[in-house]
Amino acid sequence: MRTLNDLPDLIGKRVILRCDLNVPLDGSLITDDGRIRASLPTIRYLIEQGSKVIIISHLGRPDGEVVEKYSLHPVAKRLSELLGQPVGFVNTTVGVEAESAVNQLNDGEVLVLENLRFNPGEASKDEGERETFAGQLAKLGDFLVSDGFGVVHRKQASVYELAKKLPSAAGILIDAELKVLKKLTENPEKPYLVVLGGSKVSDKLGVIDHLLPRVDALLIGGGMLFTFLAAQGSKVGSSLLEADQIETVKSYLSKANELGVEIYLPSDVLVAEKFAIDAKYETVPANQIESSSFGSNGIGLDIGPETARTFANLISNAKTVFWNGPMGVFEFPNFAGGTRAVAEALTQVSRLSVVGGGDSAAAVRQLGFADNQFGHISTGGGASLEFLEGKKLPGLEVLK
Ligand code: ADP
Ligand code: MG
Repeated sequence: MRTLNDLPDLIGKRVILRCDLNVPLDGSLITDDGRIRASLPTIRYLIEQGSKVIIISHLGRPDGEVVEKYSLHPVAKRLSELLGQPVGFVNTTVGVEAESAVNQLNDGEVLVLENLRFNPGEASKDEGERETFAGQLAKLGDFLVSDGFGVVHRKQASVYELAKKLPSAAGILIDAELKVLKKLTENPEKPYLVVLGGSKVSDKLGVIDHLLPRVDALLIGGGMLFTFLAAQGSKVGSSLLEADQIETVKSYLSKANELGVEIYLPSDVLVAEKFAIDAKYETVPANQIESSSFGSNGIGLDIGPETARTFANLISNAKTVFWNGPMGVFEFPNFAGGTRAVAEALTQVSRLSVVGGGDSAAAVRQLGFADNQFGHISTGGGASLEFLEGKKLPGLEVLK
């Protein structure tokens, strides 16, 4: 893979830097700036080289339309504070306005363009549309540095097609992420556990098939646990459920059995009356979710205390652990217990512990853990998982 050392002298050059600045927001307030901080080394490097730095990123899923709450403007402001220098912002991504803002840059100055995903071409399924958008982006720069590790598993215009149109290389963050993830794929010290949770159920179910032969055990929490419970014949009330994945999950359970890999599912669950911060809740056995006083309206929002203890025990006795996806709706304090227990146990892991995913990283910081209590906090959730599966990631392949 080409890295910064493979690029020629960048002084005075217009360098487009693809970052992943997809931070969690509460209104215009950034609740975790981890991904901005993780982008700083490459930004600083390019400033020191005397480049004109043009930063592009996505934020959220505006689906090809301008959605004000997904503007990168607050991100540009935060970046300026962290860098200690002014950062320009232009509220378009391509076209004359963006071009003229780029033309006004002096060497060592930084400009952030508006959210890539305000343009339908960025994440289009149509290769031609992506090509066209990448062509418009390419006009803004002489080089591309690709450093948005969180998106390298997606074949999107700024990640894939653009990297073919300009001389391109990976930045410092991608390089650092890969060094750690390689330790997980090449000879992880055993026992090696993978802990999965979060809300992107169908995305994450797919990785299980590939991970099973590589790990000693899988621990399942978060939104996907209900599809597993349903596969075992339990009713799950109004919890998150991917009914069309039940058969697939059954096949994972039997494959795990054949391979001798344990899949640990919760024994108890916190069931809430509704999806709300102040919702009433009860602890019930995982196979009797509808036994709570909320009946079939009950929603499972966290793993229960018994499960949290079991998971913590397994994790703290492992040598290598990768964790992606909160165990519950940690944004609501009453349902953060499972996530806290897992995070705490991860700090005890003897060899290597990795936390991956935007929300997972935000969760551990929000719960008061320090970054250095873990082996590594990855900016990529889906990207890390696909790398661990052994898949080829388009955003990295294109840099080879
Ligand atoms: P990451 O960004 O770390 O990859 P995801 O985006 O997949 O993680 O999922 C994070 C979200 O999952 C959090 O916002 C959390 O509230 C949600 N979540 C966790 N458990 C549940 C649950 N039982 N029901 C609904 N949402 C859940
Ligand atoms: Mg997420």
